[in-house]
Amino acid sequence: MSEKTIFKRIIDQEIPADVVYEDDLCMAFKDIVPKAPVHVLIIPKKEIATVDDLADDDAALIGHMWIVIRNLARELGLEEGYRVIVNCKEGGGQEVPHLHYHLLGGRKMSWPPG
Ligand code: AMP
Repeated sequence: MSEKTIFKRIIDQEIPADVVYEDDLCMAFKDIVPKAPVHVLIIPKKEIATVDDLADDDAALIGHMWIVIRNLARELGLEEGYRVIVNCKEGGGQEVPHLHYHLLGGRKMSWPPG
């Protein structure tokens, strides 16, 4: 069996995380190396490696996660705006093979990203 990802270990409470939100389907915690004053990762509890691995019936889960992101942005005071990023696979800059949204805010974002 393949090794658990670091995010699966956080879900299973084997390692600590600074959790800001959790429900039956997903959880959100602060990034350990923040790239902005607010940097939260939102992950599904279901093990999905990348966007490429989404199944058609994950649509409701992903929709739910966007509502969680919207609510978190409000709660974290990001009314000026924010950025949501998903890196997909190595070529897209993904390091942890468990689907996650980066919610970044609290500073002006530049474009294009690196
Ligand atoms: P990505 O490059 O899109 O896979 O992003 C992975 C993110 O996970 C990076 O921003 C890391 O700083 C973050 N990260 C890695 N390990 C942990 C951890 N134990 N707790 C919180 N964030 C983490």
